[in-house]
Amino acid sequence: MAIIIKTKEEIEILREGGKRLATVLYKVGEMVKPGISTWELDKYAEKLIKDMGDYPASLHYRPEGADTPFPASLCVSINNEVVHGIPNKNKILQEGDIVSLDLLLRHKNLFTDMAITVPVGEVSSSSKKLLKVTEDALMVGIDAARGGNRIGDIGHAIESFARKYKYGIVEVLSGHGVGKAIHEDPYVPNFGKAGTGAKLVPGMVIAIEPMLNNGTKNVTLDKDGWTFRTADGKRSAHFEHTILITEGEPEILTKI
Ligand code: MG
Repeated sequence: MAIIIKTKEEIEILREGGKRLATVLYKVGEMVKPGISTWELDKYAEKLIKDMGDYPASLHYRPEGADTPFPASLCVSINNEVVHGIPNKNKILQEGDIVSLDLLLRHKNLFTDMAITVPVGEVSSSSKKLLKVTEDALMVGIDAARGGNRIGDIGHAIESFARKYKYGIVEVLSGHGVGKAIHEDPYVPNFGKAGTGAKLVPGMVIAIEPMLNNGTKNVTLDKDGWTFRTADGKRSAHFEHTILITEGEPEILTKI
């Protein structure tokens, strides 16, 4: 599959979709508190998106290789869960947890993708640091995503940054092209060699999404076929933006 360059009209739609997505995700983030179930967060996200006339694109999404479609609108991953946690009425957030919220939105047939990880009540200083460094790693990656650079420059920037903190950088999951489909070419790994990989061209739209672990980079997949968690049980954080490649500084599409 070739990398798709978006037209002006498509970029306008993605800009609006990204704004809507960020608005919803931050609202869901504000709902996070001890005692709330991950199911309630999912239902809230779904309602906000449908009320705007859009569609929560994770719902019933079945990527190639998956045995079952994803059963919810919002991926909710707690503590040692890395990504793709399935919301459940019996999963209740506890004081001190960290929770990753990953959401896809389809607006006028085009997709944007975003994730944040938020603290539940008061969390430990090591969890606070993990959240801060992972979000900073995302911004470092975005800064490297300039027209004329290459995909490897993004991964290299994220990896060089995260290594300083000795965090495990998840390698089996990566960012991706996005827009006309949920997952498009190219893969956007969170590690790599500068100056390698596909060239970044204005009009490309990609999701950058570092996942950093407080221990090993290795992850395991649960029997549910979706939930990835750290192999050593330590905590993981995840931040993601959908961005537009320009001649200069990239434009974050998933922002209010
Ligand atoms: Mg993504």
